[in-house]
Amino acid sequence: MVNKLVAQGLRHPMVIQTFLRTERHRFVDSALVAQAYEDTSLPIGLGQTISKPSVVARMLELLVHGHEKPIGRVLEIGTGCGYQAALLSHVSKEVYSMERLKGLHERARDNLRPLRIPNVHLILGDGMKGFPAGAPYAGIVAAAGGLDLPQSWLEQLAVGGRLVAPAELAPGQQSLVVVERTSTGFARQILEAVCFVPLKSGVA
Ligand code: SAH
Repeated sequence: MVNKLVAQGLRHPMVIQTFLRTERHRFVDSALVAQAYEDTSLPIGLGQTISKPSVVARMLELLVHGHEKPIGRVLEIGTGCGYQAALLSHVSKEVYSMERLKGLHERARDNLRPLRIPNVHLILGDGMKGFPAGAPYAGIVAAAGGLDLPQSWLEQLAVGGRLVAPAELAPGQQSLVVVERTSTGFARQILEAVCFVPLKSGVA
């Protein structure tokens, strides 16, 4: 899988290393293990999906762009099965990962426990509010997209930090958005079309 990601353009050494260190089959249902290393999204229960590895790789590269060493604290919105949180643990110093569905929060905890990763903190809560206790963040990455980027994410981003998230900026058209916080404001780039599950409010 990693060779294929590299053939498709994955270049960042730290991102390549974290993919090599993180076994995707540990995060999917036993019936889907045979497909774990294919470049496809897979169901993880409760109507949610683990994103395609190529999309995850793209987001991680955008998040750590310009950094050779792990970046500071990162906020992940949408823990899901915990796969991306495990990947983030090797490219950042601390990971705060939020999930609104209790069933998935618990599943991620069970998936991550045997890996004994000390710097991932799982939070059951509404990620639309962010997690102020860990702010400011060097990076914020969302695996679910709303109509726009919640103001709380922008507020919790450190100066020099980057936010990578999908957003439906035009009706029915979700795009990948990168926001960099500068000393004077926010610089926003709109990239390719993507297809993520919806960002929803509240905990369930
Ligand atoms: N990164 C995950 C992908 C999970 S899919 C992985 O590696 O498996 C996106 C997740 O975002 C879903 O589990 C969904 O429940 C969650 N989500 C949607 N809206 C949310 C919100 N407001 N706060 C936290 N999680 C949210």
